[in-house]
Amino acid sequence: MSVSINRLAKVCIISGDGIGPDVINATIPVLDAVQDVVKGLQIEYVFAEAGLRSIAKTGQSLPDETKEILKKCDCCLKGPVTTPEEPGSPKSAVVQIRNMFDLYANLRPVRVLPNVPSLKPDIDLLIVRENTEGLYSGIEFMTGPDAAVAVRLITRPACERIARYAFKMAMKRRKQLTYVHKGNILKVTEAIFKDSVLKVAKEFPYVETSEARIDAIAMNLIKNPERYDVIVTTNLFGDVISDEAAQTVGGLGVAPGANIGEDYGMFEPVHGSAPKYEGLDKVNPVATILAAKMMVEWLGSTEAADRIQKAVESVLREGKVMTYDIAPQGVTPAKCSEMGKRIAQEILNQR
Ligand code: NAD
Repeated sequence: MSVSINRLAKVCIISGDGIGPDVINATIPVLDAVQDVVKGLQIEYVFAEAGLRSIAKTGQSLPDETKEILKKCDCCLKGPVTTPEEPGSPKSAVVQIRNMFDLYANLRPVRVLPNVPSLKPDIDLLIVRENTEGLYSGIEFMTGPDAAVAVRLITRPACERIARYAFKMAMKRRKQLTYVHKGNILKVTEAIFKDSVLKVAKEFPYVETSEARIDAIAMNLIKNPERYDVIVTTNLFGDVISDEAAQTVGGLGVAPGANIGEDYGMFEPVHGSAPKYEGLDKVNPVATILAAKMMVEWLGSTEAADRIQKAVESVLREGKVMTYDIAPQGVTPAKCSEMGKRIAQEILNQR
């Protein structure tokens, strides 16, 4: 699902917590540069707050004011937010945004980048994670003083729509789809997921479909990551294996994500707020810059997306301005902001 906006696109920008402001501030010059270069792409940034700072101010992780801004925008670019973990504390702002716009497909591409250490040279896979139910249903309760239950909600309509989304993505790629489950243990919920995938598979006879259990794929993603094309799975499994898969191509600093619904998208790095690096201008902005690339593509500008991807690759290939997590030996690590500026300059140089 993508949209085609032939007018000024309104993007809600949420910087988030921890390293969020650093990675978002490094991404904005890239978006500015690509608008200078690509005719017809015009973005209005509308800034809004969510996360820890909002909780301190309003008691809500996603304040009403931010919800109103989100609704008036075409999509959202979001830095990571810190979510308090104590029982009874506000629900994750990210999960709220996903639910608010029914952003059911979480796309997490994992692809080798030039000059960034990877486990194998030819990794190029896409994790399609169901984003609205599973263990993220938010249904949890105590059954006694020492016992609690979390509900893993799995429904046929949600499984069929995520499967259909994943098959469509596979059709645009290498036409291979692996569906991931734990059917040997979760016999009831996973039966619904597996049946749904196999039902939808009949609509896509050209896609080679295979299954994997979550524990086995956790091993195989390290052993043979290059074997996978599209991986579709339920919410928690998708969350866990996307961090793992990201590490096979250089880590969380280079892993983008998109949350897509019928008519709204929220784009963010896969990583969290890494509080220990807060305010140091140190972490890698590439994950957020590539999330912004997914956003402009979703907004309908393939040209802008290609230019961002090309600029990122060319700066990495050059290898002179690299943050600490990917800097080659002998190269002084660049700041987050320097890397953003260098990628923006590269886009302008492409003119
Ligand atoms: P994290 O992803 O924030 O950090 C784990 C480690 O990954 C960091 O210590 C760092 O070494 C590395 N890392 C992360 N981002 C990087 C970057 N851009 N460049 C270089 N290295 C990077 O995971 P965590 O510490 O488990 O979570 C911290 C907080 O983030 C938690 O409150 C969690 O709820 C939140 N979180 C938010 C989101 C989101 O907003 N979508 C996602 C995941 C976690």
